[in-house]
Amino acid sequence: MARKIPTRIYLSEDEMPTSWYNLRADMKEKPDPILHPGTLKPVSLADMEPVFCTEPVKQELDETTRFIPIPEGIQDLYRAYRPSPLIRAYYLEKILGTPAEIYYKFEGTNTSGSHKLNSAAAQAFYAKEQGLTSLTTETGAGQWGTAMSMACAFYGLDLTVYMVKVSSEQKPYRKALIETYGAKLIPSPSNTTESGRKILEQDPNTGGSLGCAISEAVETAVKTDKCRYVLGSVLNYVLLHQTVIGLEAKAALDKYKIKPDIIIGCAGGGSNLGGLLAPFMGDKLRGKSNTRFIAVEPASCPSFTRGRYAYDFGDTAKTTPLIRMMTLGSGFVPSANHAGGLRYHGMNSVLSKLYKDGYVEARSEAQTDVFSAAVQFMKAEGILPAPESSHAIKAAIDEALECKKTGEKKVILFGLSGTGFFDMTAFMAYNNKTMNDHIPSDEELARGFATLPDIPQNK
Ligand SMILES: *Cc1c(COP(=O)(O)O)cnc(C)c1O
Repeated sequence: MARKIPTRIYLSEDEMPTSWYNLRADMKEKPDPILHPGTLKPVSLADMEPVFCTEPVKQELDETTRFIPIPEGIQDLYRAYRPSPLIRAYYLEKILGTPAEIYYKFEGTNTSGSHKLNSAAAQAFYAKEQGLTSLTTETGAGQWGTAMSMACAFYGLDLTVYMVKVSSEQKPYRKALIETYGAKLIPSPSNTTESGRKILEQDPNTGGSLGCAISEAVETAVKTDKCRYVLGSVLNYVLLHQTVIGLEAKAALDKYKIKPDIIIGCAGGGSNLGGLLAPFMGDKLRGKSNTRFIAVEPASCPSFTRGRYAYDFGDTAKTTPLIRMMTLGSGFVPSANHAGGLRYHGMNSVLSKLYKDGYVEARSEAQTDVFSAAVQFMKAEGILPAPESSHAIKAAIDEALECKKTGEKKVILFGLSGTGFFDMTAFMAYNNKTMNDHIPSDEELARGFATLPDIPQNK
């Protein structure tokens, strides 16, 4: 017998959003402006254009346009894998014995395996429109590099991906996938750039770092004709592109007049959570709802729960403009953990501001607890979750169990940002009980905070 609310609530192609939603337009108190690290003045389009594509920078600086149309050319690629399913977790609810209703928006149905393609599509499209012929980027865990390689193949652009050397060795299938889509993959540090050569001279056996890979990608972009650098998280234009997740989720829930009481997402740089919560947060800011929003981060990299609200660089090499955000300091080195996409020192500035002002809650979770939630979820729902997304699962299960205690029938919505098919070594470590739960000491965090820029704004 069919269920009153279907297990999968689908939208049709013509119900897909045709504009992204710019949450900043509805924030009475905006995040602080991005600063030029030399002059400490707000950055302009001209400051950013030599490195980034022009249209995304315009979006970054736009705080007032509420709806920004999604160009037909981007909708075209979206239609190849969207709308993504919104799923009622009937089986998980049953196993937990909770009166709560649990829904999740699943972004792992495209080949890159995560939400990152939503912004990769937009950035590659705008680059092509601008007349560029190639792009550069870095990738740590590999999801962003894969998404960019797919988008560049679709729009006909060359792509060079600097992949942190240890990751390229640990994740050979990610590397193979990126190369199969036609991108050039260079393990970083490499001898193709000055910054790479400098690091190799100092330490020829280094496994590389995200900061180093960013430096190499930016250097190559700046030195190459008709080439720019693209970034897959943290920035506001990335969050803007990811609002397709929230807009679709809201449209699907609206069909059945479902109003979420709690919205949960994992947070690395904040793009999938920010994209999911944006339209619902808009309602809350306008006084139309009382939804709770929960960001979940790894205990090993606790930018929200133990970070500082300060101006900081986006990269370890200290080359980017300064962003005021919740941060552990660009010099913070998180321990190796299995949720690679969440190992970032800072957090998107809009989410950081909303957290500071009390609109978003945050919690951190230890790695083994997250994997135990992942296993419970996959046994019930049949979907293999990404380790990153499993942080959201953990919090959703905890909230549902809380409802079981109180008897409340709350509606919980969480973001399942991706699948874990390329993360089986992590599940092996969990199964073999060799997974550790490193939580940084206050001294370790102090070393990161010591790298925050020493500027008047941070006093
Ligand atoms: C990259 C990634 C994340 C973290 O990035 P956000 O910008 O915080 O969304 C989360 N989940 C998956 C599957 C990812 O690939």
